[in-house]
Amino acid sequence: MRILVIEDEPRILDFVSRGLEAEGFSVLGARDGQEGLRLAEAVGCDLVILDLLLPRLDGLSVLRTLETNQPALPVVIVSARADLTTKLNGFGLGARDYLTKPFSFDELLARIRVQLRRPEERDNGYFLRAGALALDVARRQAQLGDQVVDLSDREFKVLHRLLECAGEVVSRERLLSEVWGYHFDPHSNVVDVCIRRLRKKLGPDSPIETVRHAGYRLAEA
Ligand code: CA
Repeated sequence: MRILVIEDEPRILDFVSRGLEAEGFSVLGARDGQEGLRLAEAVGCDLVILDLLLPRLDGLSVLRTLETNQPALPVVIVSARADLTTKLNGFGLGARDYLTKPFSFDELLARIRVQLRRPEERDNGYFLRAGALALDVARRQAQLGDQVVDLSDREFKVLHRLLECAGEVVSRERLLSEVWGYHFDPHSNVVDVCIRRLRKKLGPDSPIETVRHAGYRLAEA
């Protein structure tokens, strides 16, 4: 799970990043609003921690753009502004939660975990679905119609990622870094090769779409 922290105060950015990394999250840091938006688009993440008073582009403008482009992405505001009007503005623009500074890291972590929890994970049988495609996470098998498909470890991870983001474009770079790790050469074609194998296994009804110059998208229906 990757968290983007948009925060211009270096001490807070450092403190939050270290804490999250110690909890096993991968962390991206941005020191201003524009950089934050750029990273959210280009690299991608599962959750955003957003300060409001930011250089170059203020937090509420960042939130507005994120809500338009990536409505499923949870945003938690962490701000020194404690007035009700600002809080209600934040929620009105789509923020999932709002924490005022100063805050305890444990409280931030608890709030993040609530946002990242998926209802399916509470059951033993954990399936991710989009249209006719279902991914049996425990068995690492895909089902498309009545066809059951066994997957290699990488194929499973790529499909899992695409399903979690169904309907959204997932960049090649994001798949490369999240499934293969940062040490992989960004010019490598391993992602494309893996997608080709997945499509072959899923057959002519494969819901994996190529979005030119952007990446891949799993059709929702
Ligand atoms: Ca600030």
